[in-house]
Amino acid sequence: MSDFVIDESHLSRTQEIFEKRQQVVAGGESSYARLSSTRPIVMTHGEGAAFFDADGNRYIDWCLGYGPMIFGHRPKPVVDAIVKQITEGGMMYTFPHELDYEVGRKIVQAVPSVDLVRFANSGAEATQAAMRLARAYTGKDKILKWEGGYHGFLDCHALSYHPPLDVAGPERRPYTVRCGSGIPRVMEECVVTGTYNDLDGLEHIVREQRGELAAIICEPIMANAGIIPPEDGWLDGLRGICDENGILLIFDEVITGFRVALGGAQQLYDVMPDITCWGMALGAGTPAAAAFGGRKEIMDVETRNEVFHGSTYNSNPMVLAGINATLDILINDTERVYGHLNKIADAMVHGMRKVFQEQGVPAQVQQVGPMWQVFFGQEKPVTRYRQARHSDMLFYHHLQMECQARGVYFHNFYLERWFSSTAHTQTEVDTSLEAIEAATRTVKERLANLPAMPGH
Ligand code: PMP
Repeated sequence: MSDFVIDESHLSRTQEIFEKRQQVVAGGESSYARLSSTRPIVMTHGEGAAFFDADGNRYIDWCLGYGPMIFGHRPKPVVDAIVKQITEGGMMYTFPHELDYEVGRKIVQAVPSVDLVRFANSGAEATQAAMRLARAYTGKDKILKWEGGYHGFLDCHALSYHPPLDVAGPERRPYTVRCGSGIPRVMEECVVTGTYNDLDGLEHIVREQRGELAAIICEPIMANAGIIPPEDGWLDGLRGICDENGILLIFDEVITGFRVALGGAQQLYDVMPDITCWGMALGAGTPAAAAFGGRKEIMDVETRNEVFHGSTYNSNPMVLAGINATLDILINDTERVYGHLNKIADAMVHGMRKVFQEQGVPAQVQQVGPMWQVFFGQEKPVTRYRQARHSDMLFYHHLQMECQARGVYFHNFYLERWFSSTAHTQTEVDTSLEAIEAATRTVKERLANLPAMPGH
């Protein structure tokens, strides 16, 4: 492996652009999740499994826009379809067109629980619409979510996402905690918070709520607190409790949909929700690719226009062209695509476990198909958000900085995750593992005399 390290001397242009944008963009970023970046990256372009910064440095990308880019950067069939649509048809219609039939048909064909869909402009809009639909269908107001789970940044979602544990109440019956200021206190009254992978706790909460819950919204695989897979019986148990109590089950498959399998996590685990939300992989990186859908009987509330849902940009042909091209590949080449995504992820997970084991670094590398995360300082598998939260964030943070300096990028927050794409090959795996090995050695030495820092 080369000794080349991307330090300040190779980041002058990056630094200059980064600083000047702080003068016009508040905080220099337009999304809270990106503010945590340690050493700034100013990106100029992406290419397959990698991207380049303003100084020409190349980074192997295991973050992939937080997940969407299942074919890597600039996948030609998707880019070509969007360019053709823009140049020959236009960006916006706000009239019916055939693409929404084509894309809708493909989603319905791919996802087992879905008869009808509606398009949205972001994962947050899709989950908001799904929650409103559930409220309209059941006539009830309250929604249950898991502590640590993320569904968007709107008032209805920005609750108990990574809450500080000193204000979060008991794990069996967590308090609902607003994320930062500006969210009306009243939102705490319509969102109840539970714990992923805790069936007893869930039964207790459902009893306590005495028929007031419209829906449970959740990621079937918890992918916003690192990667926490469902324990045996959890998803079936969840489905059963919803059925027994007249509660709708919403699967937020914004991350998992079209990523862990063509039919998403519901296909992988064979548990069917009532409503599903998609974003991210749906358009392989096409911005604003999002939708929700469900059984006909429920979606007919939308059909009858009894629930308020809309947006100027919903189902615009530019985005749908990107989704359409993505779904064509995923549907026509299912085995090859998911086989490759999993093969690359397996090789990374195997290699990372080996590095940490050989260097005596306690770590759990947890994976579901093409997504994984490493929890440092953990001796046993991580099954709950609060356990994930107690992982060694300092080690993770330093490892990320060292890897970034060696041209290997993953998000620097210990509760994000890594993704593979069809553009990654064994070469990227080998280069990344070499960098991780060297970085781990460096970080171990650096932190040797410091106590591990628990989750913030
Ligand atoms: N749901 C989940 C599970 C997500 O991870 C995200 C985004 N991280 C969203 C919803 C919101 O999606 P968007 O950022 O497109 O609004």
